[in-house]
Amino acid sequence: MADSSTKQNELNEMSPEDAFALLGDETRIAIIRALGMTPDDSLSFSTLRKRASVADSGQFNYHLGKLVNNFIRQTDADEYELTYAGMRVIGAIFSGTFNQRGTPRSFELDAMCSVCGSSLVAEYEHERVTIVCQACDDQISTFGFPPGAFENRTHEELPHAFDGQIRAHLSAVRKCFCLNCTGRMHGSIIPNSEYLLEDQEVGIEHVCERCDNRSITSIGVYLLSQPEVVAFHYDHGINLNTTPFWELPWLREENATVLSSDPWRVQLALKLDDDYLRLEVEDDLSASVI
Ligand SMILES: [Zn+2]
Ligand SMILES: [Zn+2]
Repeated sequence: MADSSTKQNELNEMSPEDAFALLGDETRIAIIRALGMTPDDSLSFSTLRKRASVADSGQFNYHLGKLVNNFIRQTDADEYELTYAGMRVIGAIFSGTFNQRGTPRSFELDAMCSVCGSSLVAEYEHERVTIVCQACDDQISTFGFPPGAFENRTHEELPHAFDGQIRAHLSAVRKCFCLNCTGRMHGSIIPNSEYLLEDQEVGIEHVCERCDNRSITSIGVYLLSQPEVVAFHYDHGINLNTTPFWELPWLREENATVLSSDPWRVQLALKLDDDYLRLEVEDDLSASVI
């Protein structure tokens, strides 16, 4: 059994160098793009060739053959469809992750700084968005954002896209899942770092065991999907599913109290109107209302 499964792995795996080399040809990318136009459909040889605009049948057959079993699957009905890897290539092309460098830009968000009342600004450089209050000189959030995500989105739609990107990231981090490499992440409470606001004594860091990808959030941001936190906001007329976290004043004023540092025990007091919700976060990042 062990022998046959090892053989199977050898058949199914190729080196990253070989896999990326397979993509270095315009006809092959045209074929993948053509299938990506209707990713749920399989296409016959002739339809696919026509859609990919490859006049020479022999040349088309040669390049298609190189992609089959890796980026394209041949169905029982002798048609062609994208594999998961093929879909990831389409995603990488549209998001511009590998082939576009984002133009630096800066624009005001339709949201005010809860400390000074100035408009918050989104700055984009090196494929990262940083949300800042320039008047307070506070960095509220910074995260990777592929250049292709700006395409076909208006200024008004961009904050929703930023919020969506952050939520996807936070949701994965809470499950210790690395969105970069799918590896396991390990989370812990850490003392203040450059990614936290100056007066935040502690924050939460997740590190991927495999690719060393790091994510640092404040205690409050980490707890945004905690059921008691969602319910507390709902009771005060705030829907946390639709409100970007940079619009929440209490997050800017957050200063979690350290009850113990070995093991870590941290208390967060969250104030809305005149009501408080107090949570205690343990060393293993579990949280409960106190
Ligand atoms: Zn400000
Ligand atoms: Zn990773």
